Amino acid sequence: MTYPIVFLGAGPGDPELITLKGRRLLDEADVIVYAGSLVNPVLLDGVRGRVHDSAGMDLDEIMNIMVTAARAGKMVVRLHTGDPAIYGAIREQMQRLDRENMEYEVVPGVSSALASAAALKVELTVPEVTQTVIFTRQAGRTPVPERESLQNLAALQASMCIFLSVSMIDKVVAELTTGGYPADTPVAVVEKASWPDQHIVRGTLADIEEKIQDSEIRKTAMILVGRALADDATAVSKLYDAGFSHEYREKK
Ligand code: SAH
Repeated sequence: MTYPIVFLGAGPGDPELITLKGRRLLDEADVIVYAGSLVNPVLLDGVRGRVHDSAGMDLDEIMNIMVTAARAGKMVVRLHTGDPAIYGAIREQMQRLDRENMEYEVVPGVSSALASAAALKVELTVPEVTQTVIFTRQAGRTPVPERESLQNLAALQASMCIFLSVSMIDKVVAELTTGGYPADTPVAVVEKASWPDQHIVRGTLADIEEKIQDSEIRKTAMILVGRALADDATAVSKLYDAGFSHEYREKK
């Protein structure tokens, strides 16, 4: 029997934030290829499979390990940080497997965007403040289509989770401000959300750049922006409102 290759979301760092299915598959795997720069190595303690760190490998090398092992009847897990669908570069890997007619599955994980919201204890979708969350990044070496530049997205004033961008906090702040968020819009930066050394810096668009430059935070951090982060974002959800009936509850 040959097993499908599994693309697996490791979660944001805390080894308890992997799914039960993910934990089982990791324990069963014969071969594990993981992104050493971001996945918490504690997740790999005690696994029986052979572990390869993909950090120094190119796509050919990664695919070669996975395809060779799977063809030999081994169970292969490709472990990605957070959820594999978000900046996981899984598409190019899946396309290669399609070309080779090889089967694969994807098992989701807790994205660092959601672990960061949990660390801040915020709801990103506050009624009458915003009902939209944007996952995005500042353009850097990887370009972003112009229509979805931070400056253009800022016009919505939704909640934003900005990945891969803390080293360009100056550009992030400049684009968001030019794009229309007021200077007092709350911004929080969460470094290593859910790890033991998690670190949070809170501010506004007016002062976050300076605060980050004064901190040690240079990478593995999420930038969250929007009024939903403010203490005064007090609009109340209709879901638990006594005067609002819905499918499961009659209004009083
Ligand atoms: N697939 C991952 C994202 C990979 S891109 C996910 O769903 O979380 C890598 C970026 O994710 C980093 O630059 C950083 O912005 C963010 N990131 C990953 N892990 C993080 C963590 N524990 N805390 C904060 N940000 C994190």
